[in-house]
Amino acid sequence: MIHDDFRFKGQRLQLVRSLQQKGITDKNVLEAIHAVPRHAFFDVALIDYAYVDKAYPIAAGQTISQPYTVAFQSQLLEIEKGDKVLEIGTGSGYQAAILAKMGARVYSIERQRDLFKKSERIFLQLGYNVKTFYGDGYKGKPTYGPFKKIIVTCGAPFLPDALKSQVEIGGCIVIPVDNGASQIMKRFIRLSEDEYKEEDHGAFSFVPMIDGIE
Ligand code: SAH
Repeated sequence: MIHDDFRFKGQRLQLVRSLQQKGITDKNVLEAIHAVPRHAFFDVALIDYAYVDKAYPIAAGQTISQPYTVAFQSQLLEIEKGDKVLEIGTGSGYQAAILAKMGARVYSIERQRDLFKKSERIFLQLGYNVKTFYGDGYKGKPTYGPFKKIIVTCGAPFLPDALKSQVEIGGCIVIPVDNGASQIMKRFIRLSEDEYKEEDHGAFSFVPMIDGIE
């Protein structure tokens, strides 16, 4: 069982207010942040920091993304109920849980076996609709595609071809692309079979997207 209480709920409300002040306006995103117990995705030792708007270490040298970053990427995806979404980089599972709470059908890939197993357990415990896969996100998930939307939560050197081909026309890919010092948050909207509109949405900092599984 995962424990939740009024203290955590109060902290989540504070977090929602601070995200609003930082420019997050999508009501569905804010509601999901209010609802999802971020502390359930934390190491017990760090649980007091679960509602601080910062990234924190999880297992395997990885991080749980900062709530602002999760909210920002979720907002760029413009999630509608029933959207089929592919996530690259399950990590703690928090981002996937937010998307599931917003009504998306989430498919999420992780290359670190321990993280894959742990997140799978948490989704089951909390009852979120997330299908998890152990594998290499550079390949996407062709057998389950195409996807309405794709989100990458690690810093990619470029937009992988497999992801380009697995997003539906009219759908989009939100991906932080490396520019040396940090990553630029990009949104690629698929306009037709071979046309994509590319947008820039500011600088962010992610752990790197790595080739192959571990
Ligand atoms: N969405 C996560 C963010 C975790 S950090 C969260 O909410 O906590 C990014 C994750 O991407 C790490 O767990 C890392 O192992 C994973 N990753 C890096 N390269 C990958 C790849 N090629 N395929 C799948 N996952 C990858």
